[in-house]
Amino acid sequence: MGEAPIMEPFRAKVVEPIPFTTRAQRERSLERAHHNLFNLRAEEVTIDLLTDSGTGALSAAQLAAAMLGDESYAGARSFHRFRQVVGDLTSYPHVLPVHQGRAAERILFSTLLGPGQITLGNTHFDTTRANVELAGGQARDLPCREAADLDSPHPFKGDIDVDALHRTLTGPDGPRVAAVVMTLTSNGMGGQPVSMANLAGTARLCRAHGVPLFLDAARFAENAWLVTRNEPGYRDHSPREVAEQAFRLADGCTASMKKDGLVNTGGFLGLRDPDLAQRCELLLVATEGFPTYGGLAGRDLDMLAQGLLEVTDPDYLRSRAGMTAYLAQLAREAGVSVVEPPGVHAVYLNAGRLLPHIPPHRFPGHALACALYLEGGIRGVECGSLYLGKEDEHGNPLVSAPWELLRLAIPRRVYSQSHIEHVGRTLARIARNTDRLPGYRITEQAPLLRHFKSALEPVPVHTDGFGARTESTAQPSPQPHPTTPVAPHQDAPTASR
Ligand SMILES: *Cc1c(COP(=O)(O)O)cnc(C)c1O
Repeated sequence: MGEAPIMEPFRAKVVEPIPFTTRAQRERSLERAHHNLFNLRAEEVTIDLLTDSGTGALSAAQLAAAMLGDESYAGARSFHRFRQVVGDLTSYPHVLPVHQGRAAERILFSTLLGPGQITLGNTHFDTTRANVELAGGQARDLPCREAADLDSPHPFKGDIDVDALHRTLTGPDGPRVAAVVMTLTSNGMGGQPVSMANLAGTARLCRAHGVPLFLDAARFAENAWLVTRNEPGYRDHSPREVAEQAFRLADGCTASMKKDGLVNTGGFLGLRDPDLAQRCELLLVATEGFPTYGGLAGRDLDMLAQGLLEVTDPDYLRSRAGMTAYLAQLAREAGVSVVEPPGVHAVYLNAGRLLPHIPPHRFPGHALACALYLEGGIRGVECGSLYLGKEDEHGNPLVSAPWELLRLAIPRRVYSQSHIEHVGRTLARIARNTDRLPGYRITEQAPLLRHFKSALEPVPVHTDGFGARTESTAQPSPQPHPTTPVAPHQDAPTASR
C-alpha cells in the first residue's frame, strides 16, 4: 500500500449519500448509456471522478457568507467584498465577474484579437483555444521539451519553451502575436505546474516585445503549492505569497473559479489596462450582466470571495496533493503507469501502455474507463483518441491522439481516503486481467466534440469469434496522419475538461 494521504484539515457537517450498485445494474446502465459515461445519470455512479470543475464541497464559512449575499442589481455589497478579495490576491485594478471561465475567455479574446492574430501559450486549454479561434485568432502551444515524456519526473512540465517563445516573438510571426497565455496548472498537459522562474522569464520577454501576458488561473493555488514544494528559492514562501507574485507578473487573467475558487460556478476577468477593461466591460454588460454581478448571484460572489481566502491554506493544499499522490501510488502498485509526476487535480492513467492489445481506434482509455465503471462504479474521462482522434466512414483510423489516457479528476473536499482506496483496489483487480477487456467502436457520433455525445459498442479484441486472430490485426493497421504523430502506446497528455 502507498503511504496514506495527509489527514484532511476538516470534518463533515453535512453529508450526501452515494449510491451503491450491483455489477448487473451497472451493466444495464452502461448499455442504456450506449457505453458513453457522459450519458450516465449521477445516481448510477458511486465515485465520480469525471471532473474537478464545480464539484467541490462548500465550507460552513462559505454557506454563512451566502446568507449575507446582497442581491441588489447594481452596486451590491457582495460585489465590493468580492472585488476587495480578488484585488488583494491579484493586484488587478479591474475585476469583471462572469458566470464561468470560458465567459472571461470569450470577452477577453473577442475584445483583444483581430483576424490573423496569434496567441502563444504553454498549452491552451480547449475552451481557451476555441475562444481564440472564434475571435479569428490562432492559438499556438509551445510546451517545454520535458512535457512530451510522460514518465519524466521533471517537476515543472507545465513550463513554456522560453527559447521557442523568443524565436517566435523575434521571427516573422512576431508582429502578429497579440498575447501570451500561461495556464496554471496546465490542464491540457496532465495538470503539470509552471515554475516561477519560467513565468518570470516569460514576463520579461513579453515586456521586451510589448506583448501582454495573461494567466489562465483556474488552478493558481495548486500551482503555487507545487512551487513551494519543488522550486528552489520558494520553499520558505507560503502558497498565498507565490500566488500573489504570479498574478503580479502578468497583465491580467481569465479564471474559472469552479476549480480553485472552491465554488460550484463562477469566474472573473482581471485586468490592469483601463482601456481594455472598459471595452471588455461593454461586452460584459451586453452578454453576461451588469458589471457588479456579471451573471452571478450576490451570494455566489460572497461564497467565491470566501473560497479564495480558504484555497491557499497550506494544510488544505497539503492534504489535497497528498490524496492525489496516494491515488497515483496505488495505481503504480497495481501495475498501471500514470503521467509523472502526478499534479494536484487529477491522476492520468496510461491506458495505452496497460492495454497494448487495444489499438488507438478501439480506444484503450475508454476501455479502461468502462472497466472501472463496471468493476467499481467509478467514472473517469478518456483523454485519448476518442477525444482527439478521427476515423473514416469504415472506422479505419485517420488521426490518433499522441497518448491514450484516462483522467481521474479529484473533486475538492469531497472524497475520503477509503473512497480513494476503493479506486485503487478496483484498478488492481482490472490490471490483473487486462487481456479480456474489449475495445470499443463508435456507432454514432456528433460532428463536433464527439466524446460527449457518441454512442459506442464493445468489440472483443482478443478473439473475433471465428478463430484466434485479434480484431486489431483483422483491421487495416493505423495509418499515421500526415501532421499528427501516431505514438499509440506511450506518452503525454492531451487536452481535457
Ligand atoms: C475549466 C477550465 C477553463 C474553462 O472554465 P469553465 O469555468 O469550465 O468555463 C479554462 N481554463 C482551464 C485551465 C480550465 O481548467
